[in-house]
Amino acid sequence: MTHQPAPQAALDDDRAQPVTLRHVLFFGAHPDDETVMLGGTLAMLKQHHVHTHVVCATDGRGGEHGGLPEASTPEALARVRQDELRCAADALGLDSLTLLGYEDPVVGPGETLYGFDADDETLVRQVLDRIRAVGAEVVLSHGSDGEYGHPAHVQVHRAVRQAVERHAPHVVFYGVSALVPGIEDRLWNRDDPAHLLLDITPWIERKHAAMLCHRTQHPLFLRRRKLTSVRQAIRTVESFHRFWPPLAPGEIPDDPFVRVLLAAGAVRGPA
Ligand SMILES: [Zn+2]
Repeated sequence: MTHQPAPQAALDDDRAQPVTLRHVLFFGAHPDDETVMLGGTLAMLKQHHVHTHVVCATDGRGGEHGGLPEASTPEALARVRQDELRCAADALGLDSLTLLGYEDPVVGPGETLYGFDADDETLVRQVLDRIRAVGAEVVLSHGSDGEYGHPAHVQVHRAVRQAVERHAPHVVFYGVSALVPGIEDRLWNRDDPAHLLLDITPWIERKHAAMLCHRTQHPLFLRRRKLTSVRQAIRTVESFHRFWPPLAPGEIPDDPFVRVLLAAGAVRGPA
């Protein structure tokens, strides 16, 4: 009996997954989202020779100034927070950082949060342009609940989802801060069960260095959980839910991102 060669069709199918992962892009709403939600993973990817790219939609002027005198006006805060993001990008070893510079609306009374003023189609186009510019095989972004319901996070999630589903279906899209049962975290997206979770302890020093960069946010990092040091505020579990390509019921995701995560010690979630 002769051995049949593998069918050629897969090689010609432009939706076939690349075997190795070369470029991962995170699309976030604010300076610090990249570090808080996936700083350890970005550092891990770098160590595994995967190029890492971050896009930040807003300038962060609507957030807290952390008592820094040099960030006391919205314009100054925007400059300081974008510098903090550049500092974090260096700490995490990012290969590229793109600041779209949308004006971040100021937090309203009672900590009311807002989306930013962007034309939906323009935002989708910007996501797509960046995916193509860096050659991203995997895109990461906010989860479907915007983590704690932040409208700007939801806005970015939807734009990334539309860009991938409509215009770049060969790209794999995962949401961050996916729900991990048994671990309490206000950032979990309750509607996005974790397909994979990574203990980022081996890369914690890089994540810590990136968190130290986001100086204006330190009081916020500490206040919500009544902590006394930035190090205590580091989330050591980072988790991911696959949105695209869609999974059949009971299907376990297998793609280049999964393979790198598993090689780095990640485990599959109960999802
Ligand atoms: Zn954010």
